[in-house]
Amino acid sequence: ETSKDNAAPSEARKLFINGEWTPAAGDTTFDDHNPTTGDLFAQCADASQADVDAAIAAAKAAQPAWAALPPAARASFFYKAAELFTERQEQFVQVLIAETGSGFGKAMFECSLVPLALREAAGLTTREIGEILPSQVPGKVNRAVRAPAGVVGVISPWNFPLYLSLRGFVYALALGNTAILKPSEDSPVSGGLMMAELFADAGFPAGVFNVVTTGRDGAAMVGDSFVNDKRVNVLSFTGSTHVGKILNTACAQAFKPIMLELGGKNPILVLEDADLDRAVDLAFFGAFMHQGQICMSADKIIVADKIYDAFLEKFVAKTKNFVPTNPQEQTCVIGPIINDRQLQRITALIAEAQEQGAKVQSGGAAQAPFFEATILTDVTPEMRVWNEEIFGPATIVVRAESVQDAIDMANDTPYGLSASVVTSDIAMGEMIAERINAGMVHVNDSTVHDEPHCPFSGFGASGGGGKWGPKGAIQAFTKQRWISTQRV
Ligand code: ADP
Repeated sequence: ETSKDNAAPSEARKLFINGEWTPAAGDTTFDDHNPTTGDLFAQCADASQADVDAAIAAAKAAQPAWAALPPAARASFFYKAAELFTERQEQFVQVLIAETGSGFGKAMFECSLVPLALREAAGLTTREIGEILPSQVPGKVNRAVRAPAGVVGVISPWNFPLYLSLRGFVYALALGNTAILKPSEDSPVSGGLMMAELFADAGFPAGVFNVVTTGRDGAAMVGDSFVNDKRVNVLSFTGSTHVGKILNTACAQAFKPIMLELGGKNPILVLEDADLDRAVDLAFFGAFMHQGQICMSADKIIVADKIYDAFLEKFVAKTKNFVPTNPQEQTCVIGPIINDRQLQRITALIAEAQEQGAKVQSGGAAQAPFFEATILTDVTPEMRVWNEEIFGPATIVVRAESVQDAIDMANDTPYGLSASVVTSDIAMGEMIAERINAGMVHVNDSTVHDEPHCPFSGFGASGGGGKWGPKGAIQAFTKQRWISTQRV
C-alpha cells in the first residue's frame, strides 16, 4: 500500500504526485524539527522545479475527468475521507503536537474542524451554480453558468497546518478543480503529507490532489511556478502579510486570481458592562492560545476606563499562573514558539516597545524555545506593537475613554480580520460589531473562532480575493460565463 511506504520513519518522506510517492529529483531533502525539543521530526523531499512541473502536469491532466464525475461520485470521496480521518484523528493530534508545538486542546480543536469541512465539501458538489436572468430583448434567455477554474496552487502555513491546508483546497476540489499543495517547511507532515495519505486511501483519483514539499529556500520557486505557469488558474494562500503581498503583486502582474488570508491585529473591546470573568477568559484564550501564533489572536485589548484597573488585575493574575511547558504534557497551555526566527522577532518587538516606554505587566522574556505569556500596557500608537501583528504570546491592553474611542482604536490598524465585543448589552454589541472594520466580529466570544461553513475573511492587509468556506469558494474557484441565447 503506497501510504505505508511514506510512513516509514527511517526514510525521507516523499512527494505525492499523480497518486505516487516520489522522491525529489536529485533526491534532495530538508529537515523538519520538533520545535520543543529541537529533535529531527522528519526528513522530507525538497522539491525542485522539475517536481513542481510534474505536479502541475498531473493536476492539469486529471482535471477534466474529475470535473466530469457525477456530483455524488465526487462527494463520496469527501465522505470517505471524513470517515477515515475520524479513525486516524489520534495520529493527527500527536503529529500536530510533535511537529508544530501545538497544545492538546488546540490540536483537538483543529481536528474537530476537519470532518466538518470535508462534509461541507461533499455538500458543495450539488449546490446551485447557475442563474437565469431576464432579458430586455424579446425571445432571449440569459444564463450565468459556472465551470471549474481548473488547477489551483495552494500554499499554507504551519500554525493550523492541517485545517488551513484543507480549507485552502477542499472546496475547490469539490467544485471540480484539481490542486497542488505546498505546505509550510515547518509542518510538511501534518500540513500536507498525512492529508495526501488520507486522500489516497479515500480513493481520490490520481492527480486530483498533489503535495510538493520544499525547504524555506524552495518556497519562492513554488510560488513563482504557481503564478507564472499558465496551467495553474488560481492561487490560494494562507500565511504572513509579507509573503501574501509578494504573491498578490506577482499575481496582479500575471492577471491571475488569488485568495489570500493573512495576518491580523485583532481587538477585543471590553465595554464597561462586561462580565469581567468572561472578558478575562476571552482575552487569555485569544491572546495565548497556541502561543498567540494565530491570525485571529487577540492582539489589542481595549478596556472601558471604568473597569480597566479591575480587568487588568484579573487578567495579569490569571496569566502569571501559566508557565510555558512541553506540549507533550496534556496540561500544557502555553507551548514553544515554532522556530528561532520567530522567537527572535517576537523578542525584538517586545524589547523595542519596552525601550519606548511600554510596561510589562506579566512575562516579557524568552527562554528558548519558549516565550512567556506577556501583557503590555502604556503602549502608544507610535510603537510597532500598536500596529504590527505580534504573532506570539503577547498582547497589549489599552484604556478607552468612551465607546467611540474604543471603536476608533480598534479600527486604527491596516488589518481587519477578527474582533470581539464583550458586553451584557447584546443590541449594543451588535451595533458596535457593524462599525468595526473587520471581516469577522464575535459578540461575547473569542477573536479565535472558526466554523467551516461561515464566510471567513479579512479586510485590508488581512487578505482578499473572496470568502473562505463553501459559498465563497463558488466565486473564487469557478469561472462564470454569461451565455445568452436568442430563441429565433
Ligand atoms: P509564517 O510566518 O506564518 O510561516 P509565511 O508567510 O512565512 O508565514 O509562510 C506561509 C507559507 O508561505 C509557507 O508555506 C512558506 O513556505 C511560504 N512562503 C514563504 N516565502 C514564500 C515566497 N516568497 N513565495 C511563496 N511562498 C512562500
